[in-house]
Amino acid sequence: MQISIVKLGHPQVDIHRVINIINNNQNLYNLVYKTQVPNLGKSDLEGWLYSDELLFSKLAPHMKSDVLTIGITSVQLEDDWFIRPNDDRSGMIVTIYQADSVIEKSKKDIEDFVIYKIITCILASEFYKNSNKSPFEDLIHDDCRGCLFDFCPDKESRAFGLSKLLIDDQCRGNLLNANVPQENILAIESVMQYMKKPSLGKSAYSVQQNPYLAGLFGIGIGIMVNTIASYLFEARNFLISIILILLFTLGTIYGKFLYDKYQAPM
Ligand SMILES: [Zn+2]
Repeated sequence: MQISIVKLGHPQVDIHRVINIINNNQNLYNLVYKTQVPNLGKSDLEGWLYSDELLFSKLAPHMKSDVLTIGITSVQLEDDWFIRPNDDRSGMIVTIYQADSVIEKSKKDIEDFVIYKIITCILASEFYKNSNKSPFEDLIHDDCRGCLFDFCPDKESRAFGLSKLLIDDQCRGNLLNANVPQENILAIESVMQYMKKPSLGKSAYSVQQNPYLAGLFGIGIGIMVNTIASYLFEARNFLISIILILLFTLGTIYGKFLYDKYQAPM
């Protein structure tokens, strides 16, 4: 099932990394990056908000019937929501506006945030299609359970969902009752499973962000240098030292590479 992704404006997100993570962790949905609409024009609602009408008029030329099209932007949406659907759920807009506090509190990165919103859009669209047009509002709940369909009033609780990464039993039941196939739910859950795993790039990021971890990291390097130094003083262990130093250098270079590749934009 194809899903089109369009950038609206200039959201600072590695959209290809987002698409790769979703595509590589399930086989049902195939996300395709379509294009960027660089110029959104001026906001048309009070307080710099952008109306659904304006944003969907920008998305419309890139939409095809039967293909869910998701626009990713950084502007503030109508009613200050993170997701706005169009009437028939063939198009959705996701914003990263004020996502910072959610990311910080959940210890995730901006790409995780966008992935989380995209998979929410996918299941909301499946729910609408399969349930004979039940609105998204039938699926979301006000209480915060760490579920994909939490509709939490404050940002701290919104971070809870992104750190828990689950679909609770009641929502799973609602999806199944609405005839959303089990395999579609499983596909989304396998993306969430991946997001729960700490990656090497994320580890480097948290070391940089956390002085306590950085300290431990420093002690580790200290012990390693000490070991190498003591080996160096014994000639027969000279070869082992050279190998250790080489491995350590290669490890550092690879770590730096991963860090540059995956580190969230600050
Ligand atoms: Zn739920």
